[in-house]
Amino acid sequence: MQRFASAREAALTLRPDQPVYCFRPQVLIDDAHQFMKMFPGETAYAVKTNGENLVLETLARNGINVFDVASPGEFEAVRKVAPDAQMLYMHPIKAQSDIRLALETYGIRVLAVDHEDEIAKVTRIVRALDIDPASITLYIRLQTKGHAAYELSKKFGAAPAHAVELLQRAHKIGYMVGLCFHVGSQIEDPDTYERALSSADWVRNRAGVPLAGLDVGGGFPAEYGHDPKRKHVEMPSLGQLMSRLRGDIKEYGFGDLPLVAEPGRVIVARAFSLIVRVLLRKGRRLYINDGIWASLSDSWTGKITLPARFIPDPAKKHRNGDPKEIVPFRVCGATCDSVDILSRPFWLPETVDTGDWIEIGNIGAYSLSLRTRFNGFYPDTFVEVETPFDEGDRPEGFASLETMAPAQ
Ligand SMILES: *Cc1c(COP(=O)(O)O)cnc(C)c1O
Repeated sequence: MQRFASAREAALTLRPDQPVYCFRPQVLIDDAHQFMKMFPGETAYAVKTNGENLVLETLARNGINVFDVASPGEFEAVRKVAPDAQMLYMHPIKAQSDIRLALETYGIRVLAVDHEDEIAKVTRIVRALDIDPASITLYIRLQTKGHAAYELSKKFGAAPAHAVELLQRAHKIGYMVGLCFHVGSQIEDPDTYERALSSADWVRNRAGVPLAGLDVGGGFPAEYGHDPKRKHVEMPSLGQLMSRLRGDIKEYGFGDLPLVAEPGRVIVARAFSLIVRVLLRKGRRLYINDGIWASLSDSWTGKITLPARFIPDPAKKHRNGDPKEIVPFRVCGATCDSVDILSRPFWLPETVDTGDWIEIGNIGAYSLSLRTRFNGFYPDTFVEVETPFDEGDRPEGFASLETMAPAQ
């Protein structure tokens, strides 16, 4: 992989027409280590956030040896780079053939469930493979209510009274049992974890079975930009959130249990930026070579404002407008689909024009992993960059990617 000091240097050297992902391995390592230092338990990286080989390999080489996985594709990706890593199969609703593969081929011994029929499914396969249930930990996934930017608890999780029954049932079969939850992604309210812990406490007290662990899931927030035209909501820093979480864990008496967290976004968001090129400027519209079907997928980056840095093409000698004036541009994506228009603008210097580049920062989480091959466009060019995004010259703009609420 080619290495550059900055994305600007990469853009001006390569003059890329295709989107380029700028990978910062040291930022990834630092953010992973920082999380591990703050969390008083095991850190299992959530592979779905960014399952690129180079991410998994960098993490595995630098002391991250537990991974949260959800599918055969993820088992394989982890095994390939980290043959000795432990995998936690935390998807509560699994195909039978995938459970068998996990237990038999990958030696996975930690699984999540949120229903008695899933326990029955797992147990049939455990029996068929003649595995001792006592060598398996079943985490019962608890339903939670939160205020994450992305609410995931609507889909999975057992209500507290149901979770009590599931714990007792799994314990009776002979499994080791634990409790897990996942409060959503990009948590902005520290009370969210406390509410989940309080619910876990209630379940534990009523179940009366010994717990083998507590898994607090992911959702830890990454720092992004903010739209100066909107009210700036003060976010707790990761340090504040984690210190509160450590306090709450103690307060609810979970301090002596083995703990697990499944961070994704907070570990990988800052490790990548993306260089896109302006294919054409039409008035206040920019047509770029990426879009909602590739790295700027609306479903996940939807509510997030990313910082953007303008990289003007020095070959362009004549420009109109004031470079200090930051104005909104409507951004159209690379595909022919008329939906492929970001419904929120990019704010950039008025002088931006055809042929210029834009570096979009902190794009490591849920962007590469969600890109599609729609219309034949599939960004897949990587370079390594040394300087962290926030240490370059100040980003003068930002890419506000907020989209309309999805039809439901
Ligand atoms: C997606 C997911 C994660 C990671 O979430 P982040 O918000 O990226 O930290 C962790 N655990 C589970 C079960 C998930 O589904």
